[in-house]
Amino acid sequence: MKVGIFGGTFNPVHYGHLRAAEEVREKLRLDKILFIPSGKPPLKTREIASARHRYEMLRIAVKGNPFLELSDIECRKQGKSFTVNTLEALKNINLGTEFFFVLGIDAFLDIPHWWRPEQLVSMTDFIVISRPGLSFGAMRESPYLTSGIKLLRDVDRFRNVTNVIKLKTNRYAILLRLTPIGISSTEIRKCIRQGKSIKYLLPPEVHSYIITHKLYKKS
Ligand code: ATP
Ligand code: MG
Repeated sequence: MKVGIFGGTFNPVHYGHLRAAEEVREKLRLDKILFIPSGKPPLKTREIASARHRYEMLRIAVKGNPFLELSDIECRKQGKSFTVNTLEALKNINLGTEFFFVLGIDAFLDIPHWWRPEQLVSMTDFIVISRPGLSFGAMRESPYLTSGIKLLRDVDRFRNVTNVIKLKTNRYAILLRLTPIGISSTEIRKCIRQGKSIKYLLPPEVHSYIITHKLYKKS
């Protein structure tokens, strides 16, 4: 069984996340994608909806897609959770499952600021997905890469280039170009604060949930 772990704040979940999950699963023939919304995140503290709301919006969003699942392993906990601990726990209860950690280029570049980054990069393989605004070339700044800028640039330029790169830990990262969807949760929250429409940026049921629970309004 091959499973993609897709962590994030999902504050709120949007079509950028959902379409990415669907394309990653299909292109790499994974059995499923497991969304793991963070609990109280270590790095983001401002204007963040409660873990319960973020979990519930994800639940509504993935309902009806048998390949997209949701885990409360992080958000049911009090306090911060760290990706290394989450992955360790998932591996221990799913022996025989091959896990891939799915994240955008922006998030991959952020790993050095996470808890025990070297341990994280040693314990899993990665699927790094494209995101408008950042090219794979930007990954040359990452301390975990062994390959040079040329290969990264080729992934940006050519569709069918071999896109598996080795990391210094002997783990590897699959670089995957997806349909570019320039949506971010930050932008959605900003629209809500400014009273602008967020229609068609996320599923209508999630939109309704945000309205019902008056999320992301000015405090
Ligand atoms: P925020 O603006 O609050 O940071 P976000 O839109 O970046 O929200 P996150 O919950 O931070 O969403 O992201 C979770 C994961 O999804 C990250 O790995 C991020 O790179 C990826 N991701 C988010 N939006 C997109 C998108 N539009 N296309 C591809 N990947 C995305
Ligand atoms: Mg983000």
